[in-house]
Amino acid sequence: MKALRSVAEARAFRSASATASIGFVPTMGALHEGHASLIEHAVRENDLAVVSIFVNPTQFGPHEDFASYPRDEPRDLAFCERLGATMVFAPAVDELYPAGDATRVHPGPIGASLEGAARPGHFAGVATVLTKLFAIVRPEVAYFGQKDFQQLRVVQTVARDLRLDVRIVGSPTVRDPDGLAISSRNRYLSAEDRQSALALSRALLAAKDDWANGDRDPAKLRDRVARAASGPGVALEYISVADPITLEELARPADRAVISLAARIGKTRLIDNVLLGISLEKIQ
Ligand code: AMP
Repeated sequence: MKALRSVAEARAFRSASATASIGFVPTMGALHEGHASLIEHAVRENDLAVVSIFVNPTQFGPHEDFASYPRDEPRDLAFCERLGATMVFAPAVDELYPAGDATRVHPGPIGASLEGAARPGHFAGVATVLTKLFAIVRPEVAYFGQKDFQQLRVVQTVARDLRLDVRIVGSPTVRDPDGLAISSRNRYLSAEDRQSALALSRALLAAKDDWANGDRDPAKLRDRVARAASGPGVALEYISVADPITLEELARPADRAVISLAARIGKTRLIDNVLLGISLEKIQ
C-alpha cells in the first residue's frame, strides 16, 4: 500500500469516492494495537477507512519529543493494509502548514485543564491539525481512543462549535495483558520503569472497584488513586476526578465521573483514565 502525500491527491481520492461513507483514524504513526482497534472500528462501520499518519509539530511543546518521536512508515503502511484500511494519508509538514501558515483553532475551557494545563498550546495544535484533516478527508465519522479522553472531548467540542460535518466516536482503551495502556511512548520504558508504570492502571482499577461498591465521594476516590498509584519510580503529575462531559472537577458526589491521571516514569510521561457511571458510547 502506498500513502498519498499531497492535499491535492487526498482531495482527488475523496472526490472519486463521493458517495462512499468514510471512517477516519488520525494518528501520529508508530502504530500499535490501540490504533489497530480504531482502524478495525472504522473498517467495520464504513464503506472506506482512511488513516492519516502525521507527526504534528504544533501539538508538541518546545521541550517535548517532536524530533525523537518514533517514525516507521513502511511498517505502518503494511499494518494499515493488513487491517483493511483503504487509504493512508501521510503528508509532509509543509503540505498541512504551507508557507506563511499562522491560523490556529483554540478550544475553549474543555482544553484548558489537565493536559491543556500541563502542555500549553497542545490542544490548539491538535484542534488545528484535525480541522485541516477533516476539511481535506471529509469523513462522516472520525475515531479517537478513550486513552486520550480529554482529546476526545476537545475534538467533539470543536466539531460541534465549528459546525464540522463529522461525528466523533470514542473507542475503548486497549491495554497490554498486564493492564498498562498501550502507547507509542511505552517503548521508552525500561523493564524496571514498566513495573513501576503498572501502578497507574492498578490504581484506576482500584477506584473502579470502590465506585462499584458505592463510593461516590470525589475526594475519597482521588485519595484512593493517589495512594495506589504512588510507589517507587512513579512521579504523579495530576489526578483528576471530573465530570466526563464538561471535565470540570467534581466538588461533590455525582452519578458519573472520569478519573484521569498523568505521571512521569523515569523520563517517560504517561496518561491513563477510567470512566465511571457512564459508557463511552454516551460520550458525544
Ligand atoms: P496517536 O498516534 O498517539 O496520536 O494516537 C492516535 C489515536 O489512537 C488517538 O485517538 C489515540 O487516543 C488512539 N490511541 C492511542 N493509544 C490507544 C490505546 N491504547 N487504546 C485506544 N486508542 C488509543
